[in-house]
Amino acid sequence: MKIAVIGCTHAGTFAIKTVLAEHPDAEVTVYEKNDNISFLSCGIALYLGGEVKDPQGLFYSSPEELSKLGATVKMQHSVESVDPDKKELTVKNLEDNTEFTDTYDKLVVTSGSWPVIPPIPGVDNKNVYLCKNYGHAKALFEKAKDAKRIIVIGAGYIGAELAEAYSKSGHDVTLLDGADRVMPKYFDSEFTDVIEQDFRDHGVTLGLGEKVQEISGDDVATVKTDKNSYEADLVVLCVGFRPNNDLVKGKLDMTDNGALITNDYMQTSNPDIYAAGDSVAVHYNPTHGLAYIPLATNAVRQGILVGKNIETPTVKYIGTQSSSGLKLYDQIMVSTGLTLDSAKRAGINADRVVVKDNYRPEFMPTTAEVLMSLVYDKDSRKILGGSLMSTYDISQSANTLSVCIQDGDTIDELAMVDMLFQPQFDRPFNYLNILAQAAQAKADK
Ligand SMILES: Cc1cc2nc3c(=O)[nH]c(=O)nc-3n(C[C@H](O)[C@H](O)[C@H](O)COP(=O)(O)OP(=O)(O)OC[C@H]3O[C@@H](n4cnc5c(N)ncnc54)[C@H](O)[C@@H]3O)c2cc1C
Repeated sequence: MKIAVIGCTHAGTFAIKTVLAEHPDAEVTVYEKNDNISFLSCGIALYLGGEVKDPQGLFYSSPEELSKLGATVKMQHSVESVDPDKKELTVKNLEDNTEFTDTYDKLVVTSGSWPVIPPIPGVDNKNVYLCKNYGHAKALFEKAKDAKRIIVIGAGYIGAELAEAYSKSGHDVTLLDGADRVMPKYFDSEFTDVIEQDFRDHGVTLGLGEKVQEISGDDVATVKTDKNSYEADLVVLCVGFRPNNDLVKGKLDMTDNGALITNDYMQTSNPDIYAAGDSVAVHYNPTHGLAYIPLATNAVRQGILVGKNIETPTVKYIGTQSSSGLKLYDQIMVSTGLTLDSAKRAGINADRVVVKDNYRPEFMPTTAEVLMSLVYDKDSRKILGGSLMSTYDISQSANTLSVCIQDGDTIDELAMVDMLFQPQFDRPFNYLNILAQAAQAKADK
């Protein structure tokens, strides 16, 4: 079986390793246009903020490792076109600009995503940088050495992390977003109010509810919004990602935003073409629909499924809740599933509760407040989403909620589910039990 893989960061790496583990006789060729594989973009902010000293630690595999496992690894090779009828690829060697064709029995599209570049006049200004891969990380690190003022456009997860990192490395940071809150897709205002204050306390200027209209300037960039004008030595564009699927546009079924639609076995509309990671739309359990949620968590799981299913579709994708988390200053913020707004937009008759409680008894020498929200379906009482925020590490609680959503648990089940009690860790009822009990009380009113 001849397998060609397009792109090798997370989805590609996991697909290749699984294919080779399960089908040692498979002839696997991977084409990667970059000069590295398996870079963990989640470490970029940690590197820029000085917490991670050596970016080499952000790779967990290498072309050499994949070659040793039996793959033919073609680095700095870009796949330029795909012909699904002939099962043929055109490939360009980026080092010598030569082109050649290759054939496959099964094709794996793991070409990922690329930052959205909005059509703002001046967005190609030389001071505007992107943040996605290792090359970007190095460029951002170098540029920040001489930059005093930094503007981050986009206050989603990545923009928020970059703003935090640069504020900790002594830069004057401005964080801009057209939305009136930071990270509105993930957290309600009770949460974002706290973190916005933290940003201000650390000297970050927040330009929220401001739409960027133009970027201009030479050595210094001027970013004009509909309300203000800001100057910076470095502007980082973080307004989202789009699937990188131009190669197969019109040849495979896609969602409106260009994400590939797969079945439960990661097969696209052409059963000999598999796809995984940021290239594809995920099966989103809270709505039972498709969604575009580019996360490494999805990429690695789907990559493994490609490997397991490449010969005979056998292992089903169980979908995702889009669980994610971050630490900004001292606050750990985690979320999974839907917010109330997103649930309502999905047409669900949903409600939510917000509870603040200490994670363990007050008689202990220390404790910490946990701010929590739970979103549930008012009709079925099923859990749809939740968020937690604390200076105490509550990150694993988002994973518990994720399992609840995955399994279709109700607020009544979470209210009484057995959870350990010991004063070091929690109360006789864990704070997640208490959150669900508050939801029950509200739902029963
Ligand atoms: C700053 C940042 C922080 C993040 N933090 C987190 C986090 O904390 N947790 C989390 O779960 N996710 C996080 N993510 C998201 C995560 O990085 C992505 O979901 C993940 O990289 C997706 O992996 P992928 O392999 O599907 O695609 P990609 O990482 O996009 O890789 C696709 C690969 O395909 C190659 N390629 C594309 N086209 C071609 C072609 N025609 N020919 C050859 N090669 C090609 C590209 O060069 C690239 O190497 C973060 C992302 C960023 C940018």
